[in-house]
Order: sequence, then structure tokens, then C-alpha cells
Amino acid sequence: MNLNIFKDFIPSASSVLLIYTGGTIGMKEDPNDGTLKPFDFSSLLDEVPELRKFGLRINSYTFDPIIDSSDVEPTLWVSLAELIKDKYDDYDGFVILHGTDTMAYSASALSFMFEHLTKPIIFTGSQLPVGRPRTDGKENIIAAVEIAAAKDSNGEALVPEVCICFNSQLYRGNRSTKVNATGFDAFHSPNYPPLAVAGINIKYNQNFIHYSSDKEAGLVIHTDLDTRVSILKVHPGITEQAVRDILLGDGSKAVILETYGSGNAISKSWFVEIVKEANKKGKILFNVTQCLSGDVDMDIYATGRSLKEAGVISGHDITTESALAKLFYLMGNYQDNTKIKQLLEMNLKGEISK
Ligand code: ASP
Repeated sequence: MNLNIFKDFIPSASSVLLIYTGGTIGMKEDPNDGTLKPFDFSSLLDEVPELRKFGLRINSYTFDPIIDSSDVEPTLWVSLAELIKDKYDDYDGFVILHGTDTMAYSASALSFMFEHLTKPIIFTGSQLPVGRPRTDGKENIIAAVEIAAAKDSNGEALVPEVCICFNSQLYRGNRSTKVNATGFDAFHSPNYPPLAVAGINIKYNQNFIHYSSDKEAGLVIHTDLDTRVSILKVHPGITEQAVRDILLGDGSKAVILETYGSGNAISKSWFVEIVKEANKKGKILFNVTQCLSGDVDMDIYATGRSLKEAGVISGHDITTESALAKLFYLMGNYQDNTKIKQLLEMNLKGEISK
């Protein structure tokens, strides 16, 4: 990693650390093959001179190498958490520039990795590079920085959460999902309202923002992540062998079942038997709906009920991204499956409506 501190703008009480990991926001076209490739972050700052107008102290930190977020690994999340912990007392808020493809995964992961968070950690990126006409990147960075620096009259952060700021909306990170591959409205939070909306002014939805109950406790980070998780998306025509491979394979300790509607899967006996066998083998089975909104309720239909009876845990209205991150975090920090299953059912960081 490179510490690349650029000029302090006008000194002020508020300060933001901009952390650049890569993504379209900082890419430019390779003249040889026309593909988008990452470029040096300092050029990106030249493109957003408006940031100076806030009168904030803004420093930046550039990861080396900078990456397309399709290459994000949990090691990046650990580096981000350690960097923020290390710089926590020096800044009022943090903005992470990140590719959109896996932004919801990274934001979900960080939400579980921080304990007693009292400062904003705002992810943003863009669909068009900042250097392009009509870019959405400038607006996204400017709004993210303003929100990261925002405080109430007592000097407390207005949004002390891990969030995604995109297209004038601020979403809780572990409720967000990428919904559009090309439009500027790339993220939604289908099961939880936006925490803020940027119009002429930025309006904060304070009833929905989570504030740490123990502000004196000091930031703690959890960097042990166990990634032995697979995802099985059920679909018409899925073969017994494919289900067997994913549910019973030795590579995973937990499997997310991406099911239909309110948590329904195939009622055929071979499917239910494999689920039961996986449960007996000690696999943690977590039911997440394929639907964009609404939640899992395994008591409505017989097909859902048979999953519940086979030992599957309800994901309620969690996103797949958040389910994966929650499992990585819980399995990395608890050994006992009963405890992990109990915590999966609980609302830990505002990731489920429960
Ligand atoms: N492939 C890019 C990435 O996720 C897309 C983007 O940034 O929007 O890094």
C-alpha cells in the first residue's frame, strides 16, 4: 500500500480520509485495446476540484495495486479495517472509492468487522470514469465526502455506519445490492429506507440511522474471517448431482440456499434428503430469497417447511451479499455451530428487519 497524502485543503475541524481501492471511478481507456484500466489516483483528484470548496482537511490513501473490484478478496477487507482502525483518531470520517461490482459485498463485510463504530465509513464509486463527460463519479464523491464529514450540533457524526452513497442516495451497506449494470441508479436497498437523500440539501433519515450505544468503548475490529461458504441457487432443472456437489462438498462449512419467493425450494425427496444429510454433516444452511425484496418465511408453504425441518436457518430479509459476509464473520469468530446459528437469526448490524 502507498500512503499518498495530497495537499491539505483549508484546515478545519472536519477531516476525511479518502481511500482509493480501484474501480471504474478511477479508470481510463487503454488506447491500445479500448478496455478500461485503473490509473493513478492523483489524476482523479484533479478532476474533482469542487472538493476544495468544503473547507475540509482531506487526505488520501491509495492501495497498491489498485484493482477492478471483481478481484476483491477478503484480504482487502482486512486491510481496509486495519487502515481505518489505525487512522481512526485522525479523521472524522472515511470515504472508500471502490468498484461497483462487489461494493455491496465489501460494505456488508466491513459492517460486521467493526464494533462500536462512531464515525462514517462511506463507500462510493461510479458507472462512468470521473474523466468522462456525464460522469456520475463527481456527484458521488462529493456527496460521500459531505456525508462523511457531517456532524450534529454536539460534534457527533450524523451517520456513524458503513454505507454506500450512490446516485444521491445513502444506503446502509449491509442492506444494499447492485441492481443496475449500466444505469446511474446502480444500488438499491430494497428492504430498508435510505439513511439520507441528497437534494438541494442532504436530508438525513435519523430515525433509521444506527448510533452506537457505547460511544466510549473504542473501536474494535474483527479480522478473522472464515470463507468456507458456498451458494446454491435453486432453479428449475437443477440436477441432483449439482445439489449434492454444493451441499455435501468438503470445501464448505456453510451453504447459502438462494431459494424461491418466501424461502421455498424443490419438494422432491432427493432434494430434501440431501439437505438433511448436509445438516447431519454439520453444515450451516442459510435460507436467502432470490427475490429482491420481502423475506423468508419457511412456515408458509410445505416446500419451505420441509427445509426448516431439515435444519435450514432463515435469513429473513437479508441480502445474499450480507448473508455471505455475516457467515464469514461469524464462522471466523465462533467455533460452535449452535452459537453461529443463533447469531444468524439475530439482527447484529441492522442487516435484517428483526
Ligand atoms: N468492474 C468495475 C469494478 O467493479 C465496475 C465499476 O467500478 O463500476 O471495479
